[in-house]
Amino acid sequence: MEQNVESVPEGDNMWLFMRDVRETMKDQNNKTVSKKLLIYVHLSTFLSQVENVSLVERFSSRRNAVGPLYLTATHVIYVDHDNKRETWILHSHISSVTKLPLTPQGSPLQVRTKTFLSMTFIIPKERDAHDLHQLLVQMCQPESIEALYCFRYSQGIEDLPREAGWSLFDLKTEFERMGVPNETWTMTLLNKEYELCDTYPRYLYVPASAPTNVLIGSSRFRSRGRLPVLTYLHQNKAALCRCSQPLSGFSARCVEDENLLVCVQKANPNTAQLVVVDTRPRINAMANRAAGKGYESEANYENTRFMFAGIDNIHVMRQSLARLLDACDLKTPMMGAFINGLEGSGWLRHIKSIIDAAVSIAKTLEDGSSVLVHCSDGWDRTAQVCGLAQVLIDPYYRTLHGFQALIAKEWLAYGHKFTDRCGHIQIDPKEISPVFTQWLEAVWQITQQFPAAFQFNDRLLLAIHDHVHSCQFGTFIGNCQKDRVDLRLEEKTYSFWGYIATHMNEYLSPLYKPDLNVGFIEPNVAPQTFKFWRELYCRWESGLHPRESLSDLMVAAKSHLNSLDDHIRLLHKRIKLSEQKLGTPVNNGLHDNKNKKESSVLYLTDNRLSYSKPLQNEVNLKLKHTIEYDPLMNNHVDVDKTVVGIDGHRTWGCLEEKGDSFDSDGQFLEDGNMDTLIDELESVAIEWKSVRGAKECPCSTPLDFATRKSHCWRCGEIYCSRCLDQWVTLPGHMSQKQSPVCRQCYRVIVKSNSLESPE
Ligand SMILES: [Zn+2]
Ligand SMILES: [Zn+2]
Repeated sequence: MEQNVESVPEGDNMWLFMRDVRETMKDQNNKTVSKKLLIYVHLSTFLSQVENVSLVERFSSRRNAVGPLYLTATHVIYVDHDNKRETWILHSHISSVTKLPLTPQGSPLQVRTKTFLSMTFIIPKERDAHDLHQLLVQMCQPESIEALYCFRYSQGIEDLPREAGWSLFDLKTEFERMGVPNETWTMTLLNKEYELCDTYPRYLYVPASAPTNVLIGSSRFRSRGRLPVLTYLHQNKAALCRCSQPLSGFSARCVEDENLLVCVQKANPNTAQLVVVDTRPRINAMANRAAGKGYESEANYENTRFMFAGIDNIHVMRQSLARLLDACDLKTPMMGAFINGLEGSGWLRHIKSIIDAAVSIAKTLEDGSSVLVHCSDGWDRTAQVCGLAQVLIDPYYRTLHGFQALIAKEWLAYGHKFTDRCGHIQIDPKEISPVFTQWLEAVWQITQQFPAAFQFNDRLLLAIHDHVHSCQFGTFIGNCQKDRVDLRLEEKTYSFWGYIATHMNEYLSPLYKPDLNVGFIEPNVAPQTFKFWRELYCRWESGLHPRESLSDLMVAAKSHLNSLDDHIRLLHKRIKLSEQKLGTPVNNGLHDNKNKKESSVLYLTDNRLSYSKPLQNEVNLKLKHTIEYDPLMNNHVDVDKTVVGIDGHRTWGCLEEKGDSFDSDGQFLEDGNMDTLIDELESVAIEWKSVRGAKECPCSTPLDFATRKSHCWRCGEIYCSRCLDQWVTLPGHMSQKQSPVCRQCYRVIVKSNSLESPE
């Protein structure tokens, strides 16, 4: 059952409580709960509450806000009543909590998050600050993986079933798309129980000519058993393979490993030469030799061309990000200090080195040569450059669906250590590194150069970034596929891909041109082309962003146009019917005689029938709507045919288009049907509220630049996507397609339908 959220007065404090309980209550029993119970439960779920906490304002000259700070089982919530602002911080997003030196006003507590929010609260009493600090430190990084948020998180019954999304992307399907297995590449079951390499997936794709002993031998000669395997097969038969460094030391050789590389060469009919890319700086690779590791010698591996890509290691990247954030977090930001900070962090230089490597790999593949990529263990830099090279080469990976498939393959299946790199639990802090963040940024830099080549928008990259760290979904938990199997995440947690599948409209770019999205895109890697990604690193500095996002405006305008078009079509039909009823065509210039002849049969469906279709399978409907509703028209439908793996099956994402209701069985427009006409006229918003002034959803969620602002197609008001989750057929629309409406409008329509609300 849906709670009566609208009945809570706007801006009322209870609303805050209600929302919190909506989440935590569902965590516990996932069942219908009454409002009274909600409030009751709510009071007991608050762990701590501190009054009169001031929030230090950094940019604006206005006085520090003062308000209560709540600590719940899942969030820290700060309420600034004066400015009607609420800040919710998920515990798993918190990266650090620091007690700063005491001030006359109280004890400052700085909270920084993995989503780059930085807030300093001044707690009046030292004692409170101390307690809060201890609690937060405990909660933001649990000791065991089973204590993570995803194991408690549960969606309401109106949302997806737990299994949705888990079967959306699998390695076999992805390789089938590339035409593998084929005569030269095959799938091996040698790793079925992770016996060859526990950080690789169960199914490995290797040259068909490679005998078992060669695979096993090579695996023993590679760090962590990560032998060379196929990750991408280009249409031109050039292969992209990945592995870890060889255990070569200064002189060790391995016949099987050398043979395996020969097999990789032979699988490519274009050329006998194989390019081996070591993504590390030369000096690091040489240092590894002393530890019995290292890199391939061209002398031992015939027909190979060897090169270093010079990407720094996880420790350099971690420090670089810390310096970048310091620059973003300057107390009194001055131009010189910021520019120096940005330069001194080296961040953009590192991003460039990743893109440089990816471009060079992509070009080599385009030219028909196969490439083998590794770094040390082959799960950080290797994933970065292999993933990025594929974005450049294959248009599919630039679509919404393909991009997710790429992450599922390159990062999840091949074992990027998300738990360690993101610091999900208490581990050695030296394991934490923004490797995946850098990759998302590298993709972002490329989208900036080729906006029409990407089906998805920046918001998708931000959502992925947030949820990699939020631990709300099981998708990014664990360090490899085996971890996720052992933790039984598919049974116990929700999938992030299922969530994305039901929110696709939010992530479509209005600039995408499928016709232009073909083949290899080669980004310009001149230093001047690199931008600072303000929307990620300074996302929460509300004063720094344009007040309106161009892409949101485009989407809103297009949706509004669609709605009005649809309505006009219906009105035309109505006028025509009325004329025929009166027996005299009204010559109002809106239509012509030709049309009149076409509709010589005066059929009209009672619209009630068309939208009173039982809302049986809410979930199914919702999925279909989400996918069917395409504010940008036709730009994703063909790519995203198989979208949602609900109950383990693939369903076709597109609803068949219903024909005009007037052509189907119906009845004459009769006396007394004036009500129907009024219903129709009232059901479509002629004017839509401008997104310009929109600061807050009626539910009091702030609508900052990062929030998707959605219009209710019936009343034209603006809501956050959470409030705009109902889909109905509007009587005033000719197409009878489902449109998004606010909950209030949903009730009106359902009521006028004399339908039982599905609540
Ligand atoms: Zn509405
Ligand atoms: Zn809302």
